[in-house]
Amino acid sequence: MDATVLDRSIPELAGLVTRGEVSAEEVTKACLDRITRRDGALGAFLTVQAEEALQAARAVDQKRARGEALGPLAGVPIGIKDALCTRDAPTTAGSRILLRPSSTGEATPDPRRGFRPPYDATVVARLREADAVLVGKTNMDEFAMGSSNENSAFFPAKNPWDPSRIPGGSSGGSAVAVAAGLALGALGSDTGGSIRQPAALTGTVGIKPTYGRVSRYGLIAFASSLDQVGPFAADVRSAARLLGVIAGRDPHDQTSLGAPVAAYEEACGRDVRGMRIGVPEEYFAKGFGAKGAEGDPMPQASTGIQPAVEKSVREALAGLASLGCELRPVRLPHTRYAVATYYVLATAEASSNLSRYDGVRFGARAEGAESLGALYAKTRGEGFGREVARRIVLGTYVLSSGYYDAYYLRAQRVRTLIRRDFEEAFREVDVIAAPVSPTVAFPLGERVDDPLAMYLADIYTLPASLAGVPALSVPCAPTPAENGVPSLPVGLQLVGPPLEEARLCALAAAWEGISPARGLRPKVSEA
Ligand code: GLN
Repeated sequence: MDATVLDRSIPELAGLVTRGEVSAEEVTKACLDRITRRDGALGAFLTVQAEEALQAARAVDQKRARGEALGPLAGVPIGIKDALCTRDAPTTAGSRILLRPSSTGEATPDPRRGFRPPYDATVVARLREADAVLVGKTNMDEFAMGSSNENSAFFPAKNPWDPSRIPGGSSGGSAVAVAAGLALGALGSDTGGSIRQPAALTGTVGIKPTYGRVSRYGLIAFASSLDQVGPFAADVRSAARLLGVIAGRDPHDQTSLGAPVAAYEEACGRDVRGMRIGVPEEYFAKGFGAKGAEGDPMPQASTGIQPAVEKSVREALAGLASLGCELRPVRLPHTRYAVATYYVLATAEASSNLSRYDGVRFGARAEGAESLGALYAKTRGEGFGREVARRIVLGTYVLSSGYYDAYYLRAQRVRTLIRRDFEEAFREVDVIAAPVSPTVAFPLGERVDDPLAMYLADIYTLPASLAGVPALSVPCAPTPAENGVPSLPVGLQLVGPPLEEARLCALAAAWEGISPARGLRPKVSEA
């Protein structure tokens, strides 16, 4: 079998396996072989479950041999963000604090010592039921806090388009796995952009569903009012198929929605003529959050959109018009408050969610503490990385008595204004189209010492998260190679009203059909 079978779309590969034209075992072997040869330089996976994957593949082949019908992901290799619980694989959330104590006192932490959950996340169970083959757990920023994957406690993932650059985060490993052909699909989680931004920066498709569309049972919580699981794939149809498998009500997750799951994949062929597309000018601002009117509380901050990114996104908008869509300006006036609002609410929720890592119940436990308080302090001090610690401190502060009204409560109110911006806009338009990230993938290390610069780059993805509405990233024209910087991917963000993922898939697929990024893949070196 030819390894290029791994470069097919998910529906194609599942079709080949279902018809017996390739066996799931052959596909899995080819995939594991590619991971061995390519991932040393990329760091997409924290752990690879070779034996378990081969076993699952053989089970799919046997099912077929018995004449049983195969599921929609028959034999498809998938990577799982390491924030999702898997009963047959260690789960670290990218953190040292979920590692079991080492007997050897090794210097570099080893994700293979990760916490072993006693159960599968619902989304993981649904992939297995659909006959997917789970090949490994993907790299991520610790507890999904970050936009570059550099906050992984283990090693950074690297962008296959230029390994000296970040792949985005926090679901960086999932994006890299798909971009580099190490898996045909992957799951990530998106709290404020962690699926869309790495998808944009790696030239893959990533979908953040409506809040509640996909179960979070078994997702290690970051900020529960925002967290949502979603798929990555190389093309829209493949991502749509994955979404169809994982979406739907789950009795284990009280926030999951009972609305019927739409036919996302079928929507990909739908005619998009006449669709009204809103273009928010706030998303093309030079210097976002630049000081506004007198007394405006927003600090001066500049993360204007890069000209090459703007050009690519505007060309995509023209492309949508050429498909018969109608472009209209819309206003999302509270966008400029999104970063401040998000970083109050998300840190507040994180400080409370992460209080469970205390050295008593899971993973690491510090040695030599003399009291319970000291055990907590020492375990947490040793187990959490700098960014996570910063967020816990910030979050605890904004919730503390005396500051709660000034920060947390106020942020909740602004969140409502941001949600209303979208409600207003969706009275006029069917979809909003915008950039995903103000810049292309930046060099590793560039922003590690500047958390504010890192936060400000989330400006275009945070509003949809705060509003709970679905949004995806689909590749548009990559930037031209210039001054020694290679051509790099750019994402077009499509945002829809609640539960309109199918509409987003339809538009994204139509755009993909004429996008200059169509079929582009990075050249990945092999060891
Ligand atoms: N970059 C954002 C943060 O650091 C979003 C992360 C996410 O969506 N998990 O919080």
